Amino acid sequence: MRIIVIGGGWAGCAAALQAKKCGAEVLLIEKTDLLLGLGNVGGIIRNNGRFTAAEEMIALGGGDLFKIADNCARHKNVDFPGHKHATLYDVNRIEPEVRNYLYSKGVNVIFETRVVDVGTEGNRIKSIYLFDGTEIEGDVFVETTGSTGPIGNCLRYGQGCSMCILRCPSYGPRISISMRAGVEDIQGLRGDESFGAMSGSCKLVKETLSEDIQEKLNKDGVVVLPVPKEDINVEKLNMKVCQQYALKEFAENIVLLDTGHAKLMTSYYPLEKLRKIPGLEKAKFVDPYSGGKANSIRYLSMAPRENTMKVCGLDNLFVGGEKSGLFVGHTEAIVTGTLAGYNAVRAGLGLNLVELPITLAVGDIINHENEMKKSIEGLKLRYTFAGANYFERMKKLGLYTTNVEEIRNRVRSLMLEKFFETRII
Ligand SMILES: Cc1cc2nc3c(=O)[nH]c(=O)nc-3n(C[C@H](O)[C@H](O)[C@H](O)COP(=O)(O)OP(=O)(O)OC[C@H]3O[C@@H](n4cnc5c(N)ncnc54)[C@H](O)[C@@H]3O)c2cc1C
Repeated sequence: MRIIVIGGGWAGCAAALQAKKCGAEVLLIEKTDLLLGLGNVGGIIRNNGRFTAAEEMIALGGGDLFKIADNCARHKNVDFPGHKHATLYDVNRIEPEVRNYLYSKGVNVIFETRVVDVGTEGNRIKSIYLFDGTEIEGDVFVETTGSTGPIGNCLRYGQGCSMCILRCPSYGPRISISMRAGVEDIQGLRGDESFGAMSGSCKLVKETLSEDIQEKLNKDGVVVLPVPKEDINVEKLNMKVCQQYALKEFAENIVLLDTGHAKLMTSYYPLEKLRKIPGLEKAKFVDPYSGGKANSIRYLSMAPRENTMKVCGLDNLFVGGEKSGLFVGHTEAIVTGTLAGYNAVRAGLGLNLVELPITLAVGDIINHENEMKKSIEGLKLRYTFAGANYFERMKKLGLYTTNVEEIRNRVRSLMLEKFFETRII
C-alpha cells in the first residue's frame, strides 16, 4: 500500500513516519529543499501544556520527533513571560537530524517538487500531479501543506511578502489539495472578522547583538529588554497567530529566546526603533528577512475534517497540522500529523478509523478545535497547548500536568501504551 504525504513540515514528517511505522510504503513530497517548513523558524516546545502533550505522545509510542527535538535542545526548562518549562531546540541543527531519521526508517522523500493538482474518481483521489505534469498514483493521501497561500495573501492580508522560510518566489506557492479534490476550504478569522493572522515571531542574527546580550542568551536562553514607552504598540498583539504570546508583556518588552538565532517574540519590529534599544544598535533580521515590516500570513486554507483527521467528503484524504485546523505549533502539528498518518494506513486496509480519547490532551484538542470552529467566535481563536483559551481548558479539565509518571499512567489505564508503535500491515 502506498501512502503519499504532501508537504514536509512537522505535520508531514510525523504523518510519513507514522505511516511507515505502521508498515506502509511512504512517499513524502516537499516543495522546498528543506523539511520542517515553519519548524525551521520556530524552536519553542514543551512550554506550558505542550509538555503534557509531548509526554502523552511519548507514552503512546508516537514520540520519536519529540525525542529528536529534545536532543537538539539549546536550553531546557526555560521560563519567559506567561510560559513555563520551555525547551528551545536549535533551528540550525534540527532539520538534518529529522531528515536522516526519516531516511533511516525507510521514508522516501522527494524535494523541490510541488504538487499542483489531483486526479479523482468519485470520492477518492487516484493520483497527484506535480508541477512538471508528472502523475503519481497512490492508495491514500495525507495533505500537510500548512495554511498559508500564494504570495498574494501576504500582500492582501498582511504587510507584504516577508520572504519567509517558505520561499514562495523560488519554490512556488502552496495550493489547497483538498480544494482541488472538490472540498471547500475553511478560513480563520481575526478579531475584526478579517481573514488570516500574522506569524508571531521573527529572528535576529545573534552575532549582531551586544556581547553581554549574546552571553546571557547563550547562558539562560532568554533576555527581556524594556521597549521605550513611545514605541509600545499594544494593538499589534491582535494581529498575531500566536494568541499565547498576545500578552501585554510582549508589547512592553523585547523578549529574545535563544533558538540558535535570537528569536524575537513579535510579528515584526521596525529596524530603526529596534536599534534604539541598548544592545541592539547593530541588530539585523534573519528569517523573515523583512522582519522590520512584515511576516507570513496564515490560516487561510484549512480542510473540514473528522476527528480521525479524514477530510469530510473524501474517502482517502487525511490532513494534519495547520491544514487540519486552527492549530498553532510544532507539537500540535506532530500530534495531528501522527494521527493522520496512522489512520491513512487503516483506511488503506479498509479498517475502521480511530480517534484519540478526549481524556488525553492530544485527543481533546483535536475534538475541541473541530467543535469550536463551527462558530464565528471559534474561528477567531487559535488552539495550542501552550496558552490562551486551550491551555486554560486543559487546566480546567485537569489535563495539564508535568508529572511524567502520571501521564504514563493515564495512557496505560486507557491500554494505549505504545499504541503508535504497533505495525498494522
Ligand atoms: C515565524 C514563526 C515562528 C514560529 N515559532 C514557533 C515555535 O517556536 N514553536 C511552535 O510550536 N510553533 C511555532 N510556530 C508555528 C509552527 O511552526 C507551525 O504551526 C507548525 O510548524 C506548522 O506545521 P505544518 O506542518 O502544519 O505546516 P508548515 O510548517 O507550513 O509545513 C508545510 C510544508 O508543506 C510544504 N508545501 C506546501 N505546499 C506544497 C505543495 N503544493 N507541494 C509540496 N509541498 C508543499 C511547505 O514547503 C512546507 O514545508 C512558528 C511559526 C512561524 C511562522
